[in-house]
Amino acid sequence: MLLTVKGLVLRETPYGEADKLIDLLTDEGVITVRARGARKPGSKYAALTQLFSYAEFCLRQSHDRFFLDSAVPIQLFYGIRNDLEALALAAYFSELTRKIATAQPQPQILRLFLYCLHYLSVHSRPLPQIKSIFELRMLTELGMMPDLLCCSACGEYLPQQLVLRIANGDFRCSECHPNNQTTDLSVTVGVLQAARHIVFSDFDRLFHYRLQDRSQQLLSLFTEQYACYRLELRYKTLRFYHSLTDGCTTMPLSQPDFGTDYE
Ligand SMILES: [Zn+2]
Repeated sequence: MLLTVKGLVLRETPYGEADKLIDLLTDEGVITVRARGARKPGSKYAALTQLFSYAEFCLRQSHDRFFLDSAVPIQLFYGIRNDLEALALAAYFSELTRKIATAQPQPQILRLFLYCLHYLSVHSRPLPQIKSIFELRMLTELGMMPDLLCCSACGEYLPQQLVLRIANGDFRCSECHPNNQTTDLSVTVGVLQAARHIVFSDFDRLFHYRLQDRSQQLLSLFTEQYACYRLELRYKTLRFYHSLTDGCTTMPLSQPDFGTDYE
């Protein structure tokens, strides 16, 4: 049986003499496909079966296995391949997705991943911003978003100072917070508004916000700790990304139009 799917290559693994197994993220979830001869020199499918290639794949299904029949490129994201930090971040997204994605339909996860790869390849957003958006929006799409509507004790909507609570998945205004949990993060209202933006905005507005460096660092800390806490996972690729970027600035030289400015 032949079927056609649009898919993003999340992982490629050598198989046999010259074949590859590729994990494809599709609207229907993740499927593993064997690409015969894809590692042979000059194979026409070598590029299309590379990590982070997005293509239309024609597959042959035999029982519960899938074999590559043909493929047509849609977007190969070449801009990521010559940027080690962007590549490391994309590898973390891939690991995170493979851990949580199942054979369930996941159209919004694929869409989110493609948006992030686009911004990683055109270098128009700081890496910490792309990382926060991926982590927090992915949890949102999975139904695990934090409750950011109002202070969970008094109902205040816009406190100027507040504490994000990782384990509780909510926030308290500074008046209500009994400051003792070591995992809690004290932030300003700008960080809260940016987190709300990531959770609630439409996909086409998702990347249109801007935060000061220090606030984005706090937001990154929150989204990373919250993702690791909720998914109960530790990521090798995340450690590698931090080994490359910690202590470095990742802001682009010229500032593009970010949309809403939260500070
Ligand atoms: Zn309060």
